[in-house]
Amino acid sequence: MTLRELAGIGPKRALAFAALEIETPRDLLEHFPFRYDDLREATTATALGTRGGEENAVGTVLAVRERRARAIEIVEVDLRDESGVFRAKWIGRNRYAIGRFKVGMRLFVRGRVERSLAGPVISVSTYRILERDERYRGALVPIYHATRELTSKTIAAAIARNFPHLLEEAPPDPIPPAILQRIGYEPIERAYRILHAPEAPEDARRARERFAFGEFLVHAFASLRRRAVRSLERGAEAMPDARRCIEELECDLPFPLTGAQRRVIDEIARDLAGEVPMNRLVQGDVGSGKTLVAAAAMLIAARNNVQSALMAPTELLALQHAQKLGPLLMPFGIAVQPVLGSQRASERREALRRLGSGEAAVAVGTHALLTESTEFFRLGLVAIDEQHRFGVEQRARLRAKGGTPHTLHLTATPIPRTLSQTLLAGLDISSIDELPPGRTPIETYVLRMSRLERAYRFIRERVEKDRQQAYIVCAAIESDDDEGTGLIGAVEEAERVAAGPFAGLRVGLLHGRMPGDAKDRTMRQFAAGEIDVLVATTVVEVGVDVSNAVVMLVLDAHRYGLAQLHQLRGRVGRGAASSYCLLVHPDETSQSARLEFLLESSDGFAIAERDLELRGGGQLGGILQSGHSGMRFGDPIADRALFIAAAGAAREIFERDPELRDPGNAGLRAALLAEPNLRDLQLSS
Ligand code: ADP
Ligand code: MG
Repeated sequence: MTLRELAGIGPKRALAFAALEIETPRDLLEHFPFRYDDLREATTATALGTRGGEENAVGTVLAVRERRARAIEIVEVDLRDESGVFRAKWIGRNRYAIGRFKVGMRLFVRGRVERSLAGPVISVSTYRILERDERYRGALVPIYHATRELTSKTIAAAIARNFPHLLEEAPPDPIPPAILQRIGYEPIERAYRILHAPEAPEDARRARERFAFGEFLVHAFASLRRRAVRSLERGAEAMPDARRCIEELECDLPFPLTGAQRRVIDEIARDLAGEVPMNRLVQGDVGSGKTLVAAAAMLIAARNNVQSALMAPTELLALQHAQKLGPLLMPFGIAVQPVLGSQRASERREALRRLGSGEAAVAVGTHALLTESTEFFRLGLVAIDEQHRFGVEQRARLRAKGGTPHTLHLTATPIPRTLSQTLLAGLDISSIDELPPGRTPIETYVLRMSRLERAYRFIRERVEKDRQQAYIVCAAIESDDDEGTGLIGAVEEAERVAAGPFAGLRVGLLHGRMPGDAKDRTMRQFAAGEIDVLVATTVVEVGVDVSNAVVMLVLDAHRYGLAQLHQLRGRVGRGAASSYCLLVHPDETSQSARLEFLLESSDGFAIAERDLELRGGGQLGGILQSGHSGMRFGDPIADRALFIAAAGAAREIFERDPELRDPGNAGLRAALLAEPNLRDLQLSS
């Protein structure tokens, strides 16, 4: 059945539906209301305005006043119910209220209520003229995402009129009956009905939860399945005898590995020893020594005559990686070859030649590594720094260059333990949860705006006395970027400090709307010490390493998640000198208690966990999305308790019936087969 075969939907309306991405009856069925207007109960005149929000009232018209001022019509109607009198007000263009109301009529009205001296006044958003003896019977009215051509009301009517037909097109329920019964969710047909026409908000909430649960179940099962499929995969280079390489590495290092580094390198070595391609995420705070871990993996690869490639999100980061890896790997006779967009043609040709011949065992670059012209002699290990900055597709392309390489993802965004097991079930996870010894902790302060001048003085002192450098991070590019937020923009801030508190110092500006080469140039200047104070947006967040920068000042710090602030803080404290992180928030904000958690903790995992409690994930979204195609009904972070429950159910099903042959699991099976990006699960259809 097509959408146009439904009652009340002709070609024109079908187009209007298409604009909302509703192209089939099933799309329409699954176009869920995003909220409901509660028109169930009328409030009595005496109680109006005591609740806040929109309220409903029903009364008989006592008087009508109408006038027009230019194109604006103003209609005021006095009404009475059994408890007292109130007023309803229509103001605006095209409200067509003039001439509608007569004394003695009965009206239902809804809107925001203000209490005036003359009694409660409703600014009407919705109304209905009632028949003389009609009893008011209200309902929860579903409100749908709509367009100018297609109102929520029209959508509601189309759904209500065609509901039995729509139900026929419903997909099978992915939740197996046994689980459904155990949890006590409604059968799926009823759940659809409730969502589109609930009797109480609680019923709608519960119905929505069951759709989210179903979706989570599908994704969690897919993850388990993907992992199982991967463990059957073969064809990666087996690299035995890693033990000797690790000893070799340790002998040469000027410091011992931390316990966490050793553990993680062992985990990687075990993966590399087999033909099953590794797919491992290494998460560790800034400075925890991930580069060294990557170097160890590359050493193992090189000793097995296999090449490695490391990809970073920006040119500058790639360059820094190459500069760090070079000296680490040189003592072992391993050549590190940068491949950068900024290279001259001859340099580039030489780089490609060295990779193609196998002369260079390690390539480091950005997306440039993905271009067709990069040929490897024998690529067997791919390391990806800050994986969430890369799309799934880019990863696939790089992997395609090396048949089935082992893959190592490195990230400084720790994922809370409570989530990682379930959300990233397709990846194995290693955590470097220990910093190398001897770090001077970064002194962190939470300040009100009114102390900002003192913070500037402090920065100026650091620059003038020891030629140290500082970052100032802003939450917006321009101050009036999005109206009314009152955020300080980087552009204005840079101008202001250059003219005022930092007059005579070299102030730089860096933000995401600058062209890439300008960004790179500024960052290079800062790294070379040619800029004293860098005013930036969060583009400085990831990875850049300038050890002479000792102050990180974050403006509007209340706007960030704790994990993100922790990452920003990690930009300083990279050298031997004492470092400072100053978190500035507006005087009137109530957020200082939240920010103060950062004074207590410098453990990225604890901070991520706390962030999750307080804000439901915040910027975790990015990293998780990269592995999980968009969910429609639920958000695994906001609804994480539900997600974890669904993941438990998925495991239970997987253990008993991994191929989903049981008729009870047919719905789940159908859902998996219907999902285009789950095709790699190799369920036989
Ligand atoms: P990350 O990439 O995790 O931010 P890096 O690998 O850049 O961290 O390491 C940060 C610094 O710590 C580097 O200067 C590195 O040489 C040093 N380092 C790494 N491991 C150790 C260790 N086990 N002991 C002492 N210093 C270490
Ligand atoms: Mg690093």
